Amino acid sequence: MPVDRESHPCPRCGERIWRYKPYGTMRALALTIAGFVCYPFAYLYPMEYNYQLGSLQGYSIMTGVFKLVDAHFLLFAAIIFMASIVTPS
Ligand SMILES: [Zn+2]
Repeated sequence: MPVDRESHPCPRCGERIWRYKPYGTMRALALTIAGFVCYPFAYLYPMEYNYQLGSLQGYSIMTGVFKLVDAHFLLFAAIIFMASIVTPS
């Protein structure tokens, strides 16, 4: 596409022509901020449910970490906590 045709209508379909998506940096920033807003809720709500002895149990990543701590698997609990919660943020 020639540079001088940028932001002009396409001769075939009439859409405006852009070399890059307009406001691409602003869109990426908005999505990043939205991700940070949603991030804590991903750990508050269970990611899986299953029936255990007739009752519905919800499990989140932190539930798994606490169960590993209760079972005295502290190294595994630390690895899961670091790899799932600390490192992605
Ligand atoms: Zn077109």
